[in-house]
Amino acid sequence: MPRHLPEPFRIKSVEPIRLTTAAERQAIMEAGGNNMFNVPADKVYIDLLTDSGTGAMSDNQWAGLQIGDESYAGCRNWFHFEKTVRDLTGLKHIIPTHQGRVAENLLFGAVVHDKIVINNNHFDTTRANVLAHGGEPLDMVIDEGRDPSSLYPFKGNINLARLQKALSEKGPDKIALVMLTLTNNSGGGQPVSMENIRSAHKITAQYGIPLFFDACRFAENAYFIKLREPGYADQPVRDIVREMFSYADGCTMSAKKDGLVNIGGFLALNDSALAERVKVELIRKEGFFTYGGLAGRDLEAIARGLHEVLNDDYLAYRIGQVKFLGDLLFENDVPLLLPPGGHAIYLDATRFAPHIPVDQFPGQSIAVNLYLQSGIRSTEIGSFMFYQRDKETGRLLKSSMELVRLAIPRRVYTESHLRYVAESVIELYQKRDELRGLRIVANGESPLRHFIARLEFV
Ligand SMILES: *Cc1c(COP(=O)(O)O)cnc(C)c1O
Repeated sequence: MPRHLPEPFRIKSVEPIRLTTAAERQAIMEAGGNNMFNVPADKVYIDLLTDSGTGAMSDNQWAGLQIGDESYAGCRNWFHFEKTVRDLTGLKHIIPTHQGRVAENLLFGAVVHDKIVINNNHFDTTRANVLAHGGEPLDMVIDEGRDPSSLYPFKGNINLARLQKALSEKGPDKIALVMLTLTNNSGGGQPVSMENIRSAHKITAQYGIPLFFDACRFAENAYFIKLREPGYADQPVRDIVREMFSYADGCTMSAKKDGLVNIGGFLALNDSALAERVKVELIRKEGFFTYGGLAGRDLEAIARGLHEVLNDDYLAYRIGQVKFLGDLLFENDVPLLLPPGGHAIYLDATRFAPHIPVDQFPGQSIAVNLYLQSGIRSTEIGSFMFYQRDKETGRLLKSSMELVRLAIPRRVYTESHLRYVAESVIELYQKRDELRGLRIVANGESPLRHFIARLEFV
């Protein structure tokens, strides 16, 4: 048998891509201040900037767009969407939003006030939304989740002893809610085990504090449970998902990930009083609660995507494809965050370019040079992206890891594209001694500076 089965789809609509010349790419980097967000997308050959909203829809989803019902209230696609999310999660109240961050904003606006939110790792918009509502985001991922070379199978797990201690010391007066990010995006797309979810539920229930999922990659997380956790190998993914959600009081979701669509999200929860409060805010900020900032056709595409994402062949391909890229790099000694996550490969920039000091952004240098060399767009997740000053001293804090993320859009690139990516990264690694660091020359003082700053080579 071949090592990997081919993609479980064939292609009936194509979007041409073109490799630019080295001179073109040089000019683009100079004009854009060596910031990957300033590169026009049609000047990118393989775009691994993010897996968010960049996936390909199926023919069934495209067909669904044609039966979009654009009635203001109670459109037929809303009922399909609501039933799908309710069957999937078992949660009572389903509130549609146009992105995941709006679901966060609505939830935190209703419950955070000035309280603490505990998470395995807050995603950047989640952290920003907790802070914006006067709250304090605390990360409690297990130690293995901070060690790039640990092979622990569930590096997204929350530290249960720390969680228990925080809840018993502070209680519901100080803690608004506990979240689990599935899979743990900021920690390398690493999964959380069912055992850890179950135990977190037990602890939070004991103290009367709600447990929510940041559920963007719930299907990828469930598939890792099937692959790695004893007792789940023969269970359908849909049942694993149902069990996961049986431990949650609610969830926020970006459908741009495991909804397999280009836009959309939702908030789902059991607390009826809270749902009523949130719906009023939803109407003020997004739209009526049967569309929530989306077109009827978008709701239909999400409903269909949420069925497709649970398909075992799809998930085997998805997780297998990311692992395939990781294996090629690992076999050629390229330093990586291990094991490969569900949606991305993360290069370990500290070991890739150890001669570049952290304040000259080794990860950004790798990302820029990978584009210059091969037309591939990736993103730095390290001290360039992470901007936080010490409250007392005003000193700039450092990121805990220096990474470059190669995020894989869903159903977009073939194994052959990923081979090109692997060969390009290996080639760059062989020339790593020639890489130079960068310094920020404009817009460096902002928590969102990675989107707007300009840099030059030192
Ligand atoms: C993408 C993402 C979000 C935010 O969702 P958007 O749809 O981009 O607003 C929140 N949490 C995690 C873990 C994510 O990956």
